[in-house]
Amino acid sequence: MDVLDSCACSGGNLPRFVQPVLLALLAREPMHGYALMQKLEETGLFVPSPDMTGCYRMLRDMERSGVLETTTDKGDGPSRRKYAVSALGRRCLNRWTASLTSNRDHLDRVLALLAAVREESGEGLLCPEEDRIFMENVRNKAMAGNIPRKEEIVRLLSYAPDSPQAVYLGYLARQTASAVAGNRAGVWAAVGVDCAPCSMNCAFCAFGESWGVIRETHEWSAERIVDTARRYASEGASWIVLRTTEHYGAARLRELAGAVSAVLPPDCVLVANTGQMNVEEIRRLGEVGVKVMYHALRLGEGRDTPFDPVGRCQALERIREAGMVLAHLVEPLGPEHGNEEIAGVLLAALQAGAQICGVMARSNVPGTPFEGRNAVSDIRLAQVAAVVRLCGGVNTPYVCVHPPVSQAVEWGANVVVVESGAVPRDKKEAEGDWRGFSMEDARRLLVRHGYAVGFCDA
Ligand code: SF4
Repeated sequence: MDVLDSCACSGGNLPRFVQPVLLALLAREPMHGYALMQKLEETGLFVPSPDMTGCYRMLRDMERSGVLETTTDKGDGPSRRKYAVSALGRRCLNRWTASLTSNRDHLDRVLALLAAVREESGEGLLCPEEDRIFMENVRNKAMAGNIPRKEEIVRLLSYAPDSPQAVYLGYLARQTASAVAGNRAGVWAAVGVDCAPCSMNCAFCAFGESWGVIRETHEWSAERIVDTARRYASEGASWIVLRTTEHYGAARLRELAGAVSAVLPPDCVLVANTGQMNVEEIRRLGEVGVKVMYHALRLGEGRDTPFDPVGRCQALERIREAGMVLAHLVEPLGPEHGNEEIAGVLLAALQAGAQICGVMARSNVPGTPFEGRNAVSDIRLAQVAAVVRLCGGVNTPYVCVHPPVSQAVEWGANVVVVESGAVPRDKKEAEGDWRGFSMEDARRLLVRHGYAVGFCDA
């Protein structure tokens, strides 16, 4: 346990804003308690999910104070209370909006002061000189196009995420993002094509057929996928990603990609995230407009998945051989992954020539073998994003973080993800934007961290 765990700087005393979120959800539509708890979880705003008993207690308190009204359904089964926002509750919601906005402004000013003090002290002054020089050397090497050695990556990952070294690492990473990407940022908009049980049974994937989370195949129509892609593109996405399960099939994907490609503007790049393919299949995807392939040697490959890591690396090579741009995140990151393993996967991505790199946290989907396991902390995710940025240098202008953790964007990640449809990190497909994170939310986040949104040459 860190001595700072009980200090106010850990954020443990910050209010979790459950009440305004409950009010907002009920303002959309009156609901029974169970449906409300499900909607609350789907927002993804609370990790881990809020305690249900506490939420029901809060609902009762809100009813007593008059901001909620209830009616009781008397069907065949047990009677159920339906909650709705009262007139007083709507006033309460407006006051929440005003006070949260004012708090956010206050927080922005406090953060600006902290940043100014760090800037005045030269940032690096808090970081031991030996580490500062080491990090600057890694940065210089990567900026000259060289890939750092594994032990250098491990050393960067070994700093405590809240240490002065990590802060300096984040500072250098953000500077690197400005230098290699012209301070630009973009949105990776993914459409999950097939929500289907998959015989590969990767332990972290909701689609693994052995977990029984997804029991039946469900696919969006081609028209719906094309429309969603068109909408994301019109809202400013830099990439449209068609994501499938392992066995979707090359011919079907080619047909779908051709239809999507036909509606995309020239500055929006089509990406395929699909099963392992041979060189010819990849080339033929290129012929219908796919320019980027997402593929990854995953953390825990061969242990949490049935894939042979060597074969996976060969699949990465085939993407290069086919003349396609490779996108490869370090994923799915959990708190148990050690520095050696993370460094190994990052090296594999860089050596395979990934131009789009980054990090994605594992979601511990209920029903999968990872149910109930801890999630990686936001600050660790941000640190790994910063390491990717520093080590990627000029070779990786695009560094992605998923989920969209603000600290990671502050530390050099310039790509965030918006997604819909089949999501391997959830127990059901997303009818709209996953966890409510929209193109507008993504744009706002990137702009708040000083980036200009949109790439001309993505
Ligand atoms: S990660 Fe891919 S290969 Fe593994 S179970 Fe999910 S869909 Fe199948």
